[in-house]
Amino acid sequence: MSDTIEKVKCLIIGSGPAGYTASVYAARANMSPVLYQGEQPGGQLTTTNDVENFPGYPEGITGPEMMMQLQKQAERFGTDVRHGWVSKVDFSGDVHKAWINEEKEIHADTIIISTGASAKYLNLPSEQKYLKLGGGVSACAVCDGFFYRNQEVVIVGAGDSACEEAHYLSKLCKKVTMLVRRDEFRASKIMAQRVMKTENIEILFNTETDEVLGDGQVVTGVRVYNNKTKEKHDIEATGFFVAIGHKPNTDIFKDILDLDETGYIINAVPGTSKTNVEGVFVSGDAADHVYRQAITAAGTGCMAALDAERYLAAKDADFEIATSNYN
Ligand code: NDP
Repeated sequence: MSDTIEKVKCLIIGSGPAGYTASVYAARANMSPVLYQGEQPGGQLTTTNDVENFPGYPEGITGPEMMMQLQKQAERFGTDVRHGWVSKVDFSGDVHKAWINEEKEIHADTIIISTGASAKYLNLPSEQKYLKLGGGVSACAVCDGFFYRNQEVVIVGAGDSACEEAHYLSKLCKKVTMLVRRDEFRASKIMAQRVMKTENIEILFNTETDEVLGDGQVVTGVRVYNNKTKEKHDIEATGFFVAIGHKPNTDIFKDILDLDETGYIINAVPGTSKTNVEGVFVSGDAADHVYRQAITAAGTGCMAALDAERYLAAKDADFEIATSNYN
């Protein structure tokens, strides 16, 4: 444990569109924000190929490029962007405490949580085995699809992510088999139609994964079953992609902040970014199981910084609300 405690006015946890937007606003409001990037700098968008629905990019932009631009913008106004993850927090006293990498202790006047969400897995032992071996299980087609060029892969899921990833894989792979557990997609019509129209994507409805097959080192196939007929069959594949949604990254706030049953942080005052702890605000997917878009995350990042600014102004007579954020 470090014996030096760093005091900061505003600590921002997480580096997706929510965290970076919060830091742009906080920096412009003279809050000298310190932002810790977390385990996946840039957040989920770094695993997204084309972002076509973020206003201001008529030609679209790649997720990683957008995150680099957001980081630059945050740094331009003086945000202190750091590597590291917050491993523990203590919000019980007047000072909000956070520990970085289980070592460094930070005391913050105000904290903005933008920890986002992470990919979910099926949690079958065979899936986890090959995931840990790096032998053919992935939750990110954009990151790993390249390794399966001209090969056959299986993808699980029926939401927009699964459709987007299946379509992406179809451009690289010989064949993509998509496992949909119900008899319909959850994805928007346009995304579902896109995969249905793609020749080398085969969609198996009412179909679930029984086991990921392999030779002990790498994936060689997937045993699937039809959940209506209970019939099983094997599909040859070298890659197994999982695209079944996300879990909010809020474990460190359990028993400290109010969370819903799936772990999303509950806004103490709807329509604001306030949590049940004064001076602690939340933005982005950590509190949003409905919209989960880059633009909504950015919007709530802005709200969190403005709420934090007002909180500081109410507490500290010397801290003035900046006019720059309202121009
Ligand atoms: P969703 O929660 O929308 O979909 C998850 C999918 O995984 C569902 O079809 C679900 O099946 C399936 N699933 C869950 N658990 C299992 C399991 N154990 N076995 C098999 N299948 C399972 O998550 P997404 O990540 O797809 O999307 C999240 C949000 O992001 C959505 O709001 C989406 O619209 C948005 N998004 C938008 C994009 C875009 O517009 N370009 C791209 C990607 C995401 P079931 O349907 O049966 O519940």
